Amino acid sequence: MVDVVSIVVACISLVGAVLAAAFTAYSAYLSDERKRQQELTKFFGKYRDALLLATQDLQSRFCNITDYHVMDWYHRGGREKESLLLYTSFVVGQFLCWIYIIRKQAQFLQYETDKATRNKDLTKAMSKITYEFATDQYDSDGMPFMLWRGDQMSIGELMLAAGTGEPHPMGYNAFHQKWTEGGKVPAAPQRNPETGEMETHAELWSGQFRTWFRPIIDGVVMLGEAHAANNDLEHPQEWIPLRNQRLRRLQHRLVDLMDLLDPEGLRSEANWMKRCNRAVECECQFYAREAGIKSTKAIVGVVEQACAVTSTDEDAFTTLTNHVAERHRK
Ligand SMILES: [Zn+2]
Ligand SMILES: [Zn+2]
Repeated sequence: MVDVVSIVVACISLVGAVLAAAFTAYSAYLSDERKRQQELTKFFGKYRDALLLATQDLQSRFCNITDYHVMDWYHRGGREKESLLLYTSFVVGQFLCWIYIIRKQAQFLQYETDKATRNKDLTKAMSKITYEFATDQYDSDGMPFMLWRGDQMSIGELMLAAGTGEPHPMGYNAFHQKWTEGGKVPAAPQRNPETGEMETHAELWSGQFRTWFRPIIDGVVMLGEAHAANNDLEHPQEWIPLRNQRLRRLQHRLVDLMDLLDPEGLRSEANWMKRCNRAVECECQFYAREAGIKSTKAIVGVVEQACAVTSTDEDAFTTLTNHVAERHRK
């Protein structure tokens, strides 16, 4: 005869064993997950200050280009113009290099699938910036400063400082040397004083290094030419639209990233964290939060119409410089 009591006892101990196993597995999962979160937090902590500084340098340069008078350096020429062109390229490169390093180092941390909000937000904020550099969806304003994902990665890789040890971007002096490698060249296309035409200097873009920065240089040249023409009081003319929407959106996305890296504003000077005047279309955290403003396609359409030059051309640079040169001849 089967002993009912022993069956009950067996059942209870079986259930107990299953529960215990489940509990052990669950707490192991929890502690694994906690360990992973700690690793991630430590990881981002390690790069936080460096990324914050690079982000600050880049957003403040973009804001100076869109809203302040750094573009005056363009028509002053000489060292100031060179600094405008090269330093802008440098701060873009420096930022992309940190992004490159972080992505490279993080691939073992499965951080893309991270569940913790803070780390996830950081990842998202970085992705938004990558996207803003690469997107071609705002086409009338799209070409200037556009860097495809591959371009961004190449620049990040090329900007790595030589030598062993912890990876980090090269300094401005090393950057300057790299830039002029293979012969001294003008920092940017020059205007031929006799014909008034822009000389594009195809040879300028040869070599392994500076060729990657061409969209940045072209963008600054284009804005510089437009700014100079618009402010040329001796030769008043029709206003040339400044195609800086990508820079404005990027600047806001960069400040979003700074807000996450330094939520209390302790590490960065609060004054340097200002958002520039917004782009026609901006979906950064600030406007999403404060104003509830979303895409405004209709307004973008108006801007597109107002923009005399379309960017559907394969080489927007040539079109624009010709356009600007033409205005100068009038
Ligand atoms: Zn000016
Ligand atoms: Zn915004």
